[in-house]
Amino acid sequence: MIFKPLRFVLISTPIGSVGSGKGGGVELTLVSIVKGLLEMGHKVVLVAPEGSYLPSDCKSAEIIRIDGIDQSSWQHQQIDSPITIPADGVLPKLLEIALNVGKDSDAILNLSYDWLPLWITPHVEAKLFHLISMGCVSRVMADAVKNLSKSHHSRIAFHTFSQASDYELTRDPIVLGNGFDLKNYFFQSCTHGPLGWAGRVAKEKGLEDAAKVASLLGDELNVWGVIEDETYASKIESSVPRGTIKWRGFLETNEFQKQLGCCRAFINTPKWNEAYGNVVVEAMACGVPVVSYKLGGPSELINSGVTGWLVPPNDIEKLKNAVLKIDEIDRQKCRDWAEEKASYKYFSSRIFSWIVEGIG
Ligand code: UDP
Repeated sequence: MIFKPLRFVLISTPIGSVGSGKGGGVELTLVSIVKGLLEMGHKVVLVAPEGSYLPSDCKSAEIIRIDGIDQSSWQHQQIDSPITIPADGVLPKLLEIALNVGKDSDAILNLSYDWLPLWITPHVEAKLFHLISMGCVSRVMADAVKNLSKSHHSRIAFHTFSQASDYELTRDPIVLGNGFDLKNYFFQSCTHGPLGWAGRVAKEKGLEDAAKVASLLGDELNVWGVIEDETYASKIESSVPRGTIKWRGFLETNEFQKQLGCCRAFINTPKWNEAYGNVVVEAMACGVPVVSYKLGGPSELINSGVTGWLVPPNDIEKLKNAVLKIDEIDRQKCRDWAEEKASYKYFSSRIFSWIVEGIG
Protein backbone atom coordinates (compact mmCIF):
# COMPACT_ATOMS: atom_id res chain seq x y z
CA MET A 1 0.00 0.00 0.00
CA ILE A 2 1.27 3.51 -0.76
CA PHE A 3 0.62 6.35 1.70
CA LYS A 4 1.14 10.04 1.31
CA PRO A 5 3.68 11.35 3.84
CA LEU A 6 2.01 12.31 7.10
CA ARG A 7 3.07 14.68 9.84
CA PHE A 8 3.23 13.29 13.36
CA VAL A 9 3.78 15.10 16.63
CA LEU A 10 5.26 12.94 19.38
CA ILE A 11 5.04 13.82 23.06
CA SER A 12 7.93 12.47 25.12
CA THR A 13 7.90 11.38 28.74
CA PRO A 14 7.65 14.25 31.25
CA ILE A 15 10.23 12.45 33.40
CA GLY A 16 13.71 13.49 32.33
CA SER A 17 15.11 14.43 28.96
CA VAL A 18 15.41 11.90 26.15
CA GLY A 19 18.91 10.43 26.50
CA SER A 20 19.13 10.85 30.28
CA GLY A 21 17.83 7.38 31.18
CA LYS A 22 15.43 8.84 33.75
CA GLY A 23 12.46 8.07 31.53
CA GLY A 24 13.36 4.35 31.36
CA GLY A 25 12.46 2.24 28.34
CA VAL A 26 10.17 4.92 26.87
CA GLU A 27 13.23 6.83 25.66
CA LEU A 28 14.39 4.03 23.41
CA THR A 29 10.84 3.24 22.28
CA LEU A 30 10.47 6.85 21.23
CA VAL A 31 13.70 6.78 19.23
CA SER A 32 12.58 3.61 17.44
CA ILE A 33 9.27 5.20 16.46
CA VAL A 34 10.89 8.44 15.27
CA LYS A 35 13.43 6.54 13.20
CA GLY A 36 10.85 4.22 11.68
CA LEU A 37 8.43 7.01 10.74
CA LEU A 38 11.22 9.11 9.22
CA GLU A 39 12.43 6.18 7.14
CA MET A 40 8.89 5.68 5.86
CA GLY A 41 9.08 9.27 4.60
CA HIS A 42 6.88 10.95 7.23
CA LYS A 43 7.53 14.18 9.09
CA VAL A 44 8.10 14.04 12.82
CA VAL A 45 8.02 16.80 15.41
CA LEU A 46 9.14 15.72 18.87
CA VAL A 47 8.01 17.75 21.86
CA ALA A 48 10.29 16.85 24.76
CA PRO A 49 11.84 18.20 27.96
CA GLU A 50 14.84 20.53 27.75
CA GLY A 51 18.13 18.68 27.18
CA SER A 52 16.56 15.96 25.02
CA TYR A 53 18.46 14.73 22.02
CA LEU A 54 17.95 12.12 19.31
CA PRO A 55 20.60 9.96 17.62
CA SER A 56 22.21 11.36 14.48
CA ASP A 57 20.14 9.15 12.17
CA CYS A 58 16.99 10.96 13.41
CA LYS A 59 18.27 14.43 12.61
CA SER A 60 15.50 15.23 10.15
CA ALA A 61 13.04 15.18 13.05
CA GLU A 62 12.25 18.60 14.50
CA ILE A 63 12.68 18.77 18.28
CA ILE A 64 10.84 21.35 20.37
CA ARG A 65 12.46 21.43 23.80
CA ILE A 66 10.49 22.64 26.79
CA ASP A 67 11.75 23.73 30.18
CA GLY A 68 9.84 22.74 33.30
CA ILE A 69 9.68 20.55 36.36
CA ASP A 70 9.42 16.77 35.88
CA GLN A 71 6.30 14.84 36.80
CA SER A 72 6.90 12.31 39.55
CA SER A 73 6.50 8.80 38.24
CA TRP A 74 3.33 6.87 39.06
CA GLN A 75 5.22 3.74 40.03
CA HIS A 76 6.57 5.50 43.10
CA GLN A 77 3.17 6.59 44.39
CA GLN A 78 0.38 4.86 46.27
CA ILE A 79 -2.57 3.21 44.55
CA ASP A 80 -4.89 6.01 45.78
CA SER A 81 -2.53 8.91 45.17
CA PRO A 82 -4.14 11.96 43.61
CA ILE A 83 -3.03 13.62 40.40
CA THR A 84 -0.28 16.11 41.10
CA ILE A 85 1.27 18.55 38.69
CA PRO A 86 4.05 20.71 40.11
CA ALA A 87 4.21 24.48 39.61
CA ASP A 88 6.01 25.12 36.34
CA GLY A 89 5.42 21.46 35.50
CA VAL A 90 6.70 20.31 32.11
CA LEU A 91 3.73 18.03 31.32
CA PRO A 92 1.04 20.69 30.67
CA LYS A 93 3.56 22.64 28.62
CA LEU A 94 4.46 19.61 26.48
CA LEU A 95 0.79 19.01 25.90
CA GLU A 96 -0.03 22.62 25.12
CA ILE A 97 2.75 22.90 22.55
CA ALA A 98 1.91 19.52 21.03
CA LEU A 99 -1.76 20.48 20.68
CA ASN A 100 -0.76 23.73 19.03
CA VAL A 101 1.71 22.17 16.61
CA GLY A 102 -0.74 19.31 16.19
CA LYS A 103 -3.26 21.61 14.52
CA ASP A 104 -1.25 21.31 11.30
CA SER A 105 -0.44 17.64 11.79
CA ASP A 106 -2.20 14.38 11.06
CA ALA A 107 -1.89 12.89 14.53
CA ILE A 108 -0.29 13.35 17.93
CA LEU A 109 1.27 10.32 19.57
CA ASN A 110 1.66 10.65 23.30
CA LEU A 111 4.27 8.60 25.13
CA SER A 112 3.96 10.29 28.48
CA TYR A 113 2.28 7.99 30.95
CA ASP A 114 0.09 10.45 32.82
CA TRP A 115 -3.48 11.47 33.49
CA LEU A 116 -3.72 14.83 31.75
CA PRO A 117 -3.12 13.75 28.11
CA LEU A 118 -5.57 10.85 28.51
CA TRP A 119 -8.24 12.99 30.13
CA ILE A 120 -8.02 15.75 27.53
CA THR A 121 -8.31 13.47 24.49
CA PRO A 122 -12.11 13.60 24.00
CA HIS A 123 -12.11 17.37 24.54
CA VAL A 124 -9.78 18.39 21.73
CA GLU A 125 -10.05 18.29 17.98
CA ALA A 126 -6.50 17.02 17.51
CA LYS A 127 -6.22 13.27 17.02
CA LEU A 128 -4.40 12.27 20.15
CA PHE A 129 -3.12 8.65 20.39
CA HIS A 130 -1.52 7.06 23.44
CA LEU A 131 1.05 4.31 23.66
CA ILE A 132 0.62 3.21 27.25
CA SER A 133 4.04 2.44 28.69
CA MET A 134 3.22 1.01 32.12
CA GLY A 135 1.06 -1.55 33.80
CA CYS A 136 -1.52 -0.10 36.18
CA VAL A 137 -0.35 1.02 39.61
CA SER A 138 -2.86 3.78 40.35
CA ARG A 139 -6.65 4.18 40.48
CA VAL A 140 -6.56 7.55 38.77
CA MET A 141 -4.71 6.11 35.79
CA ALA A 142 -6.93 3.01 35.76
CA ASP A 143 -9.99 5.27 35.45
CA ALA A 144 -8.38 7.49 32.83
CA VAL A 145 -7.59 4.50 30.59
CA LYS A 146 -10.98 2.90 31.24
CA ASN A 147 -12.86 6.09 30.34
CA LEU A 148 -10.84 6.59 27.19
CA SER A 149 -11.44 3.01 26.19
CA LYS A 150 -15.19 3.70 26.48
CA SER A 151 -15.12 6.78 24.29
CA HIS A 152 -12.04 6.34 22.05
CA HIS A 153 -10.79 2.77 22.34
CA SER A 154 -8.83 2.97 19.10
CA ARG A 155 -6.66 5.76 20.51
CA ILE A 156 -4.88 3.58 23.07
CA ALA A 157 -2.35 0.83 22.47
CA PHE A 158 -0.16 -1.33 24.70
CA HIS A 159 3.17 -3.13 24.48
CA THR A 160 2.01 -6.56 25.68
CA PHE A 161 -1.18 -8.44 26.56
CA SER A 162 0.02 -8.91 30.15
CA GLN A 163 0.36 -5.16 30.53
CA ALA A 164 -3.03 -4.48 28.94
CA SER A 165 -4.70 -7.00 31.25
CA ASP A 166 -4.15 -4.55 34.12
CA TYR A 167 -6.74 -2.22 32.61
CA GLU A 168 -10.51 -2.44 32.24
CA LEU A 169 -11.13 -2.06 28.52
CA THR A 170 -14.32 -2.06 26.50
CA ARG A 171 -12.80 -4.13 23.70
CA ASP A 172 -9.75 -6.32 23.06
CA PRO A 173 -6.55 -4.33 23.55
CA ILE A 174 -4.46 -3.10 20.66
CA VAL A 175 -1.06 -4.66 21.37
CA LEU A 176 1.97 -3.50 19.38
CA GLY A 177 5.08 -4.91 21.09
CA ASN A 178 8.19 -2.79 20.88
CA GLY A 179 11.14 -2.37 18.53
CA PHE A 180 14.89 -1.81 18.42
CA ASP A 181 17.47 -0.89 15.85
CA LEU A 182 19.10 -4.31 15.88
CA LYS A 183 22.13 -3.26 13.88
CA ASN A 184 23.17 -1.40 17.05
CA TYR A 185 23.37 -4.71 18.93
CA PHE A 186 26.14 -7.18 18.05
CA PHE A 187 25.71 -10.89 18.51
CA GLN A 188 28.33 -12.34 20.87
CA SER A 189 28.78 -16.09 21.11
CA CYS A 190 30.84 -16.34 24.34
CA THR A 191 29.23 -18.64 26.90
CA HIS A 192 31.60 -18.16 29.84
CA GLY A 193 31.01 -14.51 30.68
CA PRO A 194 29.62 -12.97 33.85
CA LEU A 195 26.00 -12.56 34.95
CA GLY A 196 24.17 -9.36 34.05
CA TRP A 197 21.20 -7.31 35.21
CA ALA A 198 20.02 -3.96 33.80
CA GLY A 199 17.30 -1.43 34.45
CA ARG A 200 16.41 1.47 36.67
CA VAL A 201 17.62 0.59 40.15
CA ALA A 202 14.25 0.95 41.86
CA LYS A 203 12.14 -1.35 44.04
CA GLU A 204 9.78 -2.53 41.28
CA LYS A 205 12.76 -4.00 39.41
CA GLY A 206 13.81 -6.42 42.17
CA LEU A 207 17.59 -6.21 41.81
CA GLU A 208 17.97 -7.79 45.28
CA ASP A 209 16.83 -11.17 43.91
CA ALA A 210 19.41 -11.18 41.12
CA ALA A 211 22.10 -10.14 43.62
CA LYS A 212 21.07 -12.98 45.90
CA VAL A 213 21.34 -15.52 43.06
CA ALA A 214 24.80 -14.22 42.15
CA SER A 215 25.91 -14.49 45.77
CA LEU A 216 24.54 -18.05 46.09
CA LEU A 217 26.55 -18.98 43.01
CA GLY A 218 29.63 -17.15 44.32
CA ASP A 219 29.50 -15.08 41.14
CA GLU A 220 29.65 -11.41 40.22
CA LEU A 221 26.63 -9.50 38.94
CA ASN A 222 27.16 -6.68 36.48
CA VAL A 223 24.51 -4.00 36.91
CA TRP A 224 23.74 -1.31 34.32
CA GLY A 225 21.25 1.51 34.68
CA VAL A 226 20.24 4.69 36.43
CA ILE A 227 20.21 4.43 40.23
CA GLU A 228 16.85 5.99 41.10
CA ASP A 229 16.98 5.12 44.77
CA GLU A 230 20.43 5.34 46.38
CA THR A 231 19.29 4.02 49.78
CA TYR A 232 17.73 0.97 48.19
CA ALA A 233 20.87 0.38 46.08
CA SER A 234 23.20 0.48 49.10
CA LYS A 235 20.87 -1.79 51.06
CA ILE A 236 21.12 -4.42 48.32
CA GLU A 237 24.86 -4.01 48.08
CA SER A 238 25.32 -4.61 51.80
CA SER A 239 23.00 -7.66 51.73
CA VAL A 240 25.46 -9.68 49.60
CA PRO A 241 29.18 -10.41 49.98
CA ARG A 242 31.37 -7.42 49.14
CA GLY A 243 32.22 -7.26 45.43
CA THR A 244 29.18 -9.28 44.31
CA ILE A 245 27.65 -6.27 42.57
CA LYS A 246 29.71 -4.50 39.93
CA TRP A 247 28.02 -1.16 39.26
CA ARG A 248 28.58 -0.33 35.59
CA GLY A 249 26.52 2.90 35.46
CA PHE A 250 24.09 4.10 32.84
CA LEU A 251 25.73 3.72 29.43
CA GLU A 252 24.83 4.79 25.91
CA THR A 253 23.38 1.93 23.88
CA ASN A 254 26.60 1.17 21.98
CA GLU A 255 28.74 0.69 25.09
CA PHE A 256 25.85 -0.93 26.98
CA GLN A 257 25.30 -3.61 24.35
CA LYS A 258 29.05 -4.29 24.07
CA GLN A 259 29.29 -5.07 27.79
CA LEU A 260 25.89 -6.75 27.95
CA GLY A 261 26.73 -9.11 25.08
CA CYS A 262 29.65 -10.61 27.06
CA CYS A 263 27.28 -12.02 29.69
CA ARG A 264 26.55 -15.73 29.83
CA ALA A 265 23.10 -14.99 31.28
CA PHE A 266 20.92 -11.98 31.90
CA ILE A 267 18.78 -12.03 35.04
CA ASN A 268 15.48 -10.15 35.04
CA THR A 269 13.55 -9.91 38.29
CA PRO A 270 10.44 -7.72 37.96
CA LYS A 271 8.28 -7.28 41.04
CA TRP A 272 5.51 -5.58 39.06
CA ASN A 273 3.58 -6.11 35.86
CA GLU A 274 6.41 -4.98 33.59
CA ALA A 275 4.84 -3.39 30.50
CA TYR A 276 7.42 -4.83 28.13
CA GLY A 277 11.01 -5.15 29.35
CA ASN A 278 13.34 -3.49 26.84
CA VAL A 279 16.44 -4.82 28.53
CA VAL A 280 15.24 -8.40 28.06
CA VAL A 281 15.11 -7.95 24.29
CA GLU A 282 18.35 -5.98 24.19
CA ALA A 283 20.09 -8.87 25.96
CA MET A 284 18.59 -11.39 23.52
CA ALA A 285 19.61 -9.18 20.59
CA CYS A 286 23.23 -9.62 21.76
CA GLY A 287 22.71 -13.37 22.01
CA VAL A 288 22.38 -13.41 25.80
CA PRO A 289 19.79 -15.85 27.18
CA VAL A 290 17.47 -14.40 29.81
CA VAL A 291 16.33 -15.92 33.07
CA SER A 292 13.26 -14.08 34.30
CA TYR A 293 10.24 -14.23 36.52
CA LYS A 294 7.12 -15.23 34.66
CA LEU A 295 5.47 -11.87 35.18
CA GLY A 296 4.33 -9.11 32.84
CA GLY A 297 5.97 -8.40 29.50
CA PRO A 298 9.01 -10.69 29.90
CA SER A 299 6.67 -13.70 30.13
CA GLU A 300 5.61 -12.92 26.53
CA LEU A 301 9.13 -12.17 25.31
CA ILE A 302 11.00 -15.22 26.55
CA ASN A 303 10.36 -18.60 25.07
CA SER A 304 11.22 -20.74 28.10
CA GLY A 305 13.69 -23.48 27.20
CA VAL A 306 14.52 -21.82 23.85
CA THR A 307 15.67 -18.24 24.52
CA GLY A 308 16.02 -18.49 28.30
CA TRP A 309 14.04 -19.70 31.30
CA LEU A 310 10.91 -18.39 32.97
CA VAL A 311 10.45 -19.22 36.65
CA PRO A 312 7.69 -18.41 39.16
CA PRO A 313 7.91 -14.85 40.56
CA ASN A 314 10.03 -14.43 43.71
CA ASP A 315 11.37 -18.00 43.60
CA ILE A 316 15.08 -17.45 44.15
CA GLU A 317 15.92 -21.16 44.23
CA LYS A 318 14.33 -21.72 40.79
CA LEU A 319 15.99 -18.56 39.48
CA LYS A 320 19.36 -19.90 40.60
CA ASN A 321 18.73 -23.35 39.08
CA ALA A 322 17.71 -21.74 35.81
CA VAL A 323 21.01 -19.83 35.70
CA LEU A 324 22.82 -23.13 36.25
CA LYS A 325 21.27 -24.62 33.11
CA ILE A 326 21.78 -21.58 30.90
CA ASP A 327 24.22 -23.49 28.66
CA GLU A 328 21.24 -25.49 27.37
CA ILE A 329 20.14 -22.35 25.51
CA ASP A 330 21.40 -21.68 22.00
CA ARG A 331 22.45 -18.01 21.91
CA GLN A 332 21.71 -17.71 18.21
CA LYS A 333 18.03 -18.45 18.91
CA CYS A 334 17.90 -15.40 21.20
CA ARG A 335 19.19 -13.16 18.44
CA ASP A 336 16.82 -14.77 15.94
CA TRP A 337 13.84 -14.03 18.17
CA ALA A 338 14.78 -10.35 18.43
CA GLU A 339 15.19 -10.06 14.67
CA GLU A 340 11.88 -11.71 13.98
CA LYS A 341 9.77 -10.00 16.65
CA ALA A 342 11.39 -6.78 17.77
CA SER A 343 12.91 -4.74 14.98
CA TYR A 344 12.12 -1.02 14.95
CA LYS A 345 10.91 -1.33 11.36
CA TYR A 346 8.30 -3.91 12.26
CA PHE A 347 7.28 -1.98 15.37
CA SER A 348 7.03 1.44 13.72
CA SER A 349 5.03 0.02 10.83
CA ARG A 350 2.55 -1.36 13.39
CA ILE A 351 2.43 2.04 15.10
CA PHE A 352 1.79 3.64 11.72
CA SER A 353 -1.01 1.24 10.75
CA TRP A 354 -2.67 1.68 14.15
CA ILE A 355 -2.70 5.47 13.81
CA VAL A 356 -3.73 5.49 10.15
CA GLU A 357 -6.65 3.22 10.97
CA GLY A 358 -7.52 5.45 13.91
CA ILE A 359 -7.59 8.64 11.87
CA GLY A 360 -9.48 6.95 9.08
N1 UDP B 1 19.57 1.42 29.50
C1 UDP B 1 20.59 2.10 28.86
N2 UDP B 1 21.85 2.05 29.38
C2 UDP B 1 22.14 1.33 30.48
C3 UDP B 1 21.10 0.60 31.11
C4 UDP B 1 19.82 0.65 30.60
O1 UDP B 1 20.37 2.78 27.85
O2 UDP B 1 23.29 1.33 30.90
C5 UDP B 1 18.20 1.53 28.95
C6 UDP B 1 17.79 0.30 28.17
O3 UDP B 1 18.25 0.42 26.84
C7 UDP B 1 16.26 0.33 28.28
C8 UDP B 1 15.98 1.16 29.51
O4 UDP B 1 17.24 1.62 29.99
O5 UDP B 1 15.70 0.93 27.13
C9 UDP B 1 15.22 0.39 30.57
O6 UDP B 1 13.97 0.08 30.06
P1 UDP B 1 13.05 -1.12 30.53
O7 UDP B 1 11.94 -1.27 29.55
O8 UDP B 1 13.86 -2.34 30.74
O9 UDP B 1 12.47 -0.67 31.93
P2 UDP B 1 11.74 0.68 32.43
O10 UDP B 1 12.82 1.55 32.98
O11 UDP B 1 11.05 1.31 31.26
O12 UDP B 1 10.78 0.25 33.50
